[in-house]
Amino acid sequence: MHIKEMSGKKVQPIDCRHFINGEYMDFDGQSTFENINPATEEVMGKVAEGGYEEIDSAVKAARTALKGPWSNFTAAKRSQVLRRIGDLILNRKEELAALEAMDTGKPYQMALEVDITRAAYNFHFFADFLTSLGTEAYQQDDQALHYSIRRPVGVVGMINPWNLPLLLLTWKMAPCLAAGNTVVMKPAEWTPMTATVLAEIIQEAGVPDGVVNLVHGFGPNSAGAALTEHADVDAITFTGETKTGTAIMKAAAPTLKKLSYELGGKNPNIIFADSDLDEVIETTLKSSFMNQGEVCLCGSRIYVEREAYDEFLKKFVAKTRQLQVGDPFDSGTKVGAVISKEHYDRVNQYIQIAKEEGGEILVGGYRPKGVQKGYFIEPTILAGLDRDSRCVQEEIFGPVVTVLPFDSEEDVIDQANDTHYGLGTTIWTNDLRRAHRVAHRIEAGIIWVNTWYLRDLRTPFGGLKQSGIGREGGIHSFEFYSELSNITIKL
Ligand code: NAD
Repeated sequence: MHIKEMSGKKVQPIDCRHFINGEYMDFDGQSTFENINPATEEVMGKVAEGGYEEIDSAVKAARTALKGPWSNFTAAKRSQVLRRIGDLILNRKEELAALEAMDTGKPYQMALEVDITRAAYNFHFFADFLTSLGTEAYQQDDQALHYSIRRPVGVVGMINPWNLPLLLLTWKMAPCLAAGNTVVMKPAEWTPMTATVLAEIIQEAGVPDGVVNLVHGFGPNSAGAALTEHADVDAITFTGETKTGTAIMKAAAPTLKKLSYELGGKNPNIIFADSDLDEVIETTLKSSFMNQGEVCLCGSRIYVEREAYDEFLKKFVAKTRQLQVGDPFDSGTKVGAVISKEHYDRVNQYIQIAKEEGGEILVGGYRPKGVQKGYFIEPTILAGLDRDSRCVQEEIFGPVVTVLPFDSEEDVIDQANDTHYGLGTTIWTNDLRRAHRVAHRIEAGIIWVNTWYLRDLRTPFGGLKQSGIGREGGIHSFEFYSELSNITIKL
């Protein structure tokens, strides 16, 4: 019943094994857990449950592989392999998109156009970037010549979330491999399938055994904790919740690991009355509800200048009502299921809190009519809440947005910055000077003017405040995934 036919190819869910030193490990003697499809609530298969032992085997394989030949490949050869990984992802894009949709509950079409396409591009981009990489050199008068060389960090632990599983995993994997490191990855327990296929693709593309290892499992007291505590892991690159970041930092402290963090967000979407409202609404529908609102960059706090507030709400509510919620494999679906029962309850609890806090539900707030199975929540717009309401302050990470009016530039900057997050922001205005002025004062790592989710992979990506540590993208990724040594030659 899980079999789907995508562009003439039959796709069915896979069981997910660990991949260590170039081999998928048997399930014999292993603990396993069930993989549930959030759109149907059915069990799709089983997943190996790794812990300290499996992580230790994977780290040993990665440590041995660090000696070569991967890190000794020429940049041109590594680049060729990365390019091939991107090509192989594209060759299997329908299969990967179907597995991603089954694992996450997101619309298949979105998985195809965004997740999988971008996963391939991550490899293609870093394949090119790698070949143009240089380092610094300084001549100190006639005394000395200084230059730096770049080397891998070592064994990198990669811990990933469930919302954009392959996209975010490859965003780390591509530069990490480009820089010559070896890897132990731990995908989110909710979404193990595409990472399992990626291991096979990476091997097929010519990455030597032991360079990329995969251990499935949970976070605390499980595979995630084992990876962050392991003495032979040199760096951890983590994307996930802010409070998990705290736990990882504590666990990584005794062995002083290098850390890169992409954490939570509660991003303001600021709409000035002079902007083009139809364009604003078109993009705001996506920035609010794309991927069921389960994108760290979603603009879940909408601020509208008071004179445009009523008109905006009228149009935004009407368009939101038209969004089709349901079967991820129906081509008309715009909003799928949220990831799990636990998350479904959590998002619904916020809707309940909004009611208790005196908020008004302008649209949504319920399970779509007629839907019996699956963790579906209607796209929901909340208004009438105070700026310090929990729904305005906390990351809901579901198809729920709040809308508040503002009276001046000063007022909206103050409201937008009133949070401990600082990931993304969108500013809508046709006043050029105001756009720059406001952008310079908003506390966020990624600021868009008159757009959302537009990325150029050369640019720095990351959060301020409790939304992250470090930047990824172009040279910034290499700064994390490599170490510089300076060499001084006395002349
Ligand atoms: P999460 O923090 O619960 O889990 C992420 C990963 O960490 C999972 O693989 C999990 O097993 C692991 N983990 C959990 N506890 C751990 C521990 N103690 N030690 C080691 N590993 C542990 O996050 P999630 O619910 O999967 O993802 C949603 C969150 O991710 C949201 O807050 C979202 O904003 C954030 N996110 C941020 C970005 C970004 O680029 N800033 C991108 C996507 C998602």
